[in-house]
This record gives sequence, C-alpha cells and structure tokens, in this order.
Amino acid sequence: MEKTTSYEELIEKIKQLESDVSKYKSIGENLVDKIPYASWIKDTEGKFIYVNEYFASQLNLQTKDIIGKDSYSLFPPEEAMSREDEDKIVLSQKKSKSYEILNNGKWYEIYKAPLLNSKGEVLGIFGMTKDITSEKNKVYSLSREGEFLRALMDNIPDTIYFKDKQSRFTLINKAKAREIGLVSPDEAIGKTDFDFFDKEQAEQAFQDEQKIFATGIPLINKVEKLKHQDGEPYWVSATKIAIKDELNRITGLVGISRNITYNIQVNKKLREAKEKAEESDKLKTAFLANMSHEIRTPMNGIIGFSNLLKDPDISTEDRDEYISQINSCSNTLLNLIDDIIDISKIEAGQLRIMESETPVIHILKDLYSSFSKIKEQENKFDIDFNLKLPENIEEFTLITDPNRLKQILTNLLGNAFKFTGKGKIEFGLMPDITKTVVFYVKDTGIGIPEDKKDVIFDRFAQVFDPGFKGQKGTGLGLAICSNLAKLLGGSIRVESQYGKGSAFFLELPYNPGSKGKMVTVKNKLKPSFSWEGKQLLIVEDERINQIYLREILKKTGASISWASNGKEAIEMHSSMQDIDMILMDLKMPEIDGYQATRRIREKDSSVIIIAQTAYAMQDEREKCIQHGCNDYVSKPIQKDQLLELMNKYLTT
Ligand code: ADP
Repeated sequence: MEKTTSYEELIEKIKQLESDVSKYKSIGENLVDKIPYASWIKDTEGKFIYVNEYFASQLNLQTKDIIGKDSYSLFPPEEAMSREDEDKIVLSQKKSKSYEILNNGKWYEIYKAPLLNSKGEVLGIFGMTKDITSEKNKVYSLSREGEFLRALMDNIPDTIYFKDKQSRFTLINKAKAREIGLVSPDEAIGKTDFDFFDKEQAEQAFQDEQKIFATGIPLINKVEKLKHQDGEPYWVSATKIAIKDELNRITGLVGISRNITYNIQVNKKLREAKEKAEESDKLKTAFLANMSHEIRTPMNGIIGFSNLLKDPDISTEDRDEYISQINSCSNTLLNLIDDIIDISKIEAGQLRIMESETPVIHILKDLYSSFSKIKEQENKFDIDFNLKLPENIEEFTLITDPNRLKQILTNLLGNAFKFTGKGKIEFGLMPDITKTVVFYVKDTGIGIPEDKKDVIFDRFAQVFDPGFKGQKGTGLGLAICSNLAKLLGGSIRVESQYGKGSAFFLELPYNPGSKGKMVTVKNKLKPSFSWEGKQLLIVEDERINQIYLREILKKTGASISWASNGKEAIEMHSSMQDIDMILMDLKMPEIDGYQATRRIREKDSSVIIIAQTAYAMQDEREKCIQHGCNDYVSKPIQKDQLLELMNKYLTT
C-alpha cells in the first residue's frame, strides 16, 4: 500500500530543503567571497549590489562600504568612465565579454556577463577581475628569452639548425643559410641536406642522424669535409644532439657546426713545418758527418804532401806534383769554407748581389779553359767536354753579378764532372736570347731519380746512389746556386733521366746593359806587365805573403816599398810623395787596413788603394770601398787576377 505523506512530514521536508538551500547558498557565497578574484554584481543603474571580500580588500574597504555605490564614487574618474563604458557594451549586447587591461603597472583579466531573467530581461551585470601580472611577466620574459636566443643564433658565426625525425630542417640560423647559399633561413624549412649538398655528403649526414634518432647518443665534434657549391672544400666540426619531448620521446635534433678550415690548414702547415724541421735535422746530422769527411780528406792531403816535401832528395817532378796536390787540396778547403759562408749568409738574408756589365761569352770561355785544365789534371780522358755557343754571337754583356754567375756555373760544371764517370759534358747558352738568357750544363752521368729532382735544391740534400762510388760533397752547392739564381732575378731547373744523365738550366733576365747586345771582343794575348817608374807600397804583416807578392811583382819593373802594419803605412805615405798604388792588407795589428785607408784617403784623394780581403765576402768588399779603397782582391791571391787588376789602374 502506498504510504501517504503527513502534513508534519511535509513541513519537515520543506524545512530540510530550506536549510539545504541556505547551506548551499552560504557555501556559494563563501566560495565567491574567498576566491582571489574580485567579483561584483551591479544593478541596471550601475550600483554595486554585491561585492566579494577580495574586491573590497583591493580598495582597502569593507564590503558594506561599497554596496549601493557606483564606480564614480570608488574609482578615479577616468577609470570609472572606462569601466562604465565596458558595462554598457555588455548590457546592450546582452553578451559576456572578457578583456585585459594594464592599470598602475599591473595586468588584469576582466570578465563581465549580463544577468538576465527567464524572459531575457536585464537585471544587472556580473563582473570578475583577475590579477594576471605574474603570468604576463612570465610570457614576456619567455618571449624576451626567445628574442635573445634568436639574436644569438643569427649572430653567432657557427651554423645552428633544427631537424625533425625525417632529417628535414625545421629551423636554421643565418650562418647556416649562408653556408647552403640561401638568402633567408625560412627557405630551408622542410628541405633536407640532399637539396644542398652532393649525394655522398648528404647520405653520410642522414645516416649519422638516423643513428642518433635510433640510439639517442649524440654526435660530438665530428670533423666533416664538405664542399661549397663552387666545389671549394671546407671542413666543419659538427655536433648533433637529439631533442626530446616531456615524455622523453625523441622528436628531432639540434645541430651546431663550426667551420674549422683555417685550423685544419694551419695544422697542416704546422705538420709540414715539423716534418721539414725533422728532415732538416736529419740532414744536418748527415751534413756534419759529411763535413768532417770533406775537411779531413784535403787536410790529410795537405799534411801528407807537405811532409813529403821535407825530404831533401825528392826530384823536381815529384816536388811539382806534391805542390800541385797541396794546391788542389787547399782550393777544395777554400771552396768548402766559401760554401759554408754563402749558405749562412743566404739563410740570414745577408747575401748581396753586386751587379755590373758582365761579358757573358768571356766568362763562359774562361770556365771552359779552367775546367779543361781540371779535366786534364784529373785524367778524365773518357769525358768529351764542350762549350757550345749560339752562332753569330761573339760577345754580349748582361747586367748581373759576374762573380755569382761564375759561381753558379762553376758549381754546375763541378757536379757534372763529379757525377759523370765517362761520356759527354756540354755547357753553353741556349740560342734564343730575347727576354731571358738561358745557360745550361748537360752531362751523360748518373742522372737523378724523378722523386729527388726537387729535393736536391734543398740545403744538405744528397742523393745516395749505390752504383756510384766515391760520391763527395756537402749537399750545399745546388742550394746555394738556386738561391743565387733567385737573387739574380732568375731560376734554376733540372731535367734528368735516372741512369742516363742530367741537364741543369740557369735562366736569367736579359738585361743587356749600356754596351748593348752582341759586342765583338778582340782576342786577347796573354799580357805582360811593365810598370817601370811606378811606385808601389805594399802593406802586409805576414812574411809568407810578403814573399809571395814580391815573387809575383818581380818582373813588372815597379819600385816596391814595404810596410808591415797600418801605422807604418800612414807614415810612409806621408814621407814618400810619389806613391802610385798601395796594396793594403786589412787584418793587421795596431791600426788595421780600414783605418789606415781612411787616414791616407783624408790627405790624398788620388793614390790608388787596393785592398786584399781575406774573406770572399761581399759585404767585406763593400766595406773596403766605403773606407776609400778603389778596388779589392780576394785572398788567396791569384797571380793573373792581381796583375790584371793592378794594370787596369796603373796604365790609365
Ligand atoms: P753536393 O756537394 O753533394 O754535390 P749539391 O747541392 O751540389 O751537393 O748536389 C746535391 C745532390 O744532387 C748531389 O749530392 C747529387 O746527388 C745530385 N746531383 C747534383 N748534380 C748532379 C748531376 N749533374 N748528376 C747527378 N746528380 C747530381
């Protein structure tokens, strides 16, 4: 049977319902009161009919002080007006609205909604305001960080790029755009390395990246050789790291690459320099061992033959032979010393060139006769030695350093004789003399292996040839020659076939000088010198040199006075009025030759002074001229050279 509800029960239920409603109403009001949003309700006239505690606290008021008031009595006029304007819009449109405002340095999010009855008539307006300053600041600082990062990315010289898991670019910086030839970084989005690099390079990068996606292991500083679009190679150090989302899943990668082409090139140069230094160290060691041999051999000759000369019973023939051996050994030693001095000067950049009008054919003929003599002396009958000159050329001059030209050709000829057991040696001039003059020395000797053709011009370099016995030398000759050739404005090159022979070519610029081209020179007879009536003063402190000079000058008929130091020379010059020429030694005790020359020159500008320089060094010679000497002759003095030089001054 259906249970009927009694009146009491109904009353009880209604009371229960009222209590529930008021409970929920008070919970609702409490909730709205306590939330940290300013909430309010206004009637249609703009008067507050409800505000929550938070709203009141923002204005430093009690809720009861606000109820019944309008915006104009609570806020500054401008703010009140803008609040009212917004309210009007909501009420007229009967639609809720939310917007943000900045007020007194704080950001607020405002929500307004019309309160409508069931018929849709406006009863009032509800509003809620939230302080969003801290969120706003977060967003602002995030966007600022973004800007910083963008600025950093675009101004850094390294290339930076982001790729998705298909290795497609999702973002690149300006440096990367420049590297792959794009005007704007945006053009790369969605493209891959295959669009910008050749297949091989792109494939390698793709493989690397797929490995990173599969394993998560980054690629750190991998050196990659790449090619610009014009084919020019460059190197980068590439780092690629996987990017993960909040669930630790790989979504792509970020890559950063630094161009290290400069470092690679510098390292390569350093490595080459190191290898060269090590090689040169090895060569130096070999050079010292060689040098010791090169010095000992002629020294042994000199000491040995000098001792033989002590024997009172030797025949004239033997004596001449011993003396000629001593001479030859001494010359070898002198040449060695000259080479060492030259190479040191070249390395110190101090070797200077003294250019003058140089009679080329005369020099070649002189060389031919000297080497012919050497060939005879050394019994090299199996060598056919020739000088070949272009037809119709008697003589021509060249502005160059005659001594250095002779030195280079002497060296090349010396080598040709040294490395040719039997066969042919020919030297001379190439016929075409237009812009350059090309001298050559050809032999049919042992030849030079292909891979050694450049090396032989390095100092101390020698090619060891097992089939060739008795190789002598220091490895300095060609280094000196090629440096000298450069100083003369030219160059030396070699053509050679191993086992068949070599040809060295010295090419000098053709600078014909004032005498012009192709001057005919008359054949000279060996001159005899006659200086009757000439007064010579010889300044020399070494007795052995005095004896030698006396012998040389004996037949010239000149009167000779002797001084054994600078002081005596000055005194004799001022006491004797008629001295025509002074032969001045430079290295002497008390007053040396330079000082003596200067003091004599102060009083006498016409006397001829010829210096005897002990070292065949160019600056020594220049120093003589600066101190007032007219000319110089190098020691050891060669008889013909001295007489010709003296004759030049005594007969003009
Ligand atoms: P060296 O004093 O040892 O001769 P060089 O500098 O003159 O020094 O020559 C260097 C090396 O070049 C020689 O040791 C030799 O191996 C090679 N060479 C030079 N000239 C010739 C040549 N005409 N024929 C063959 N080899 C040569």
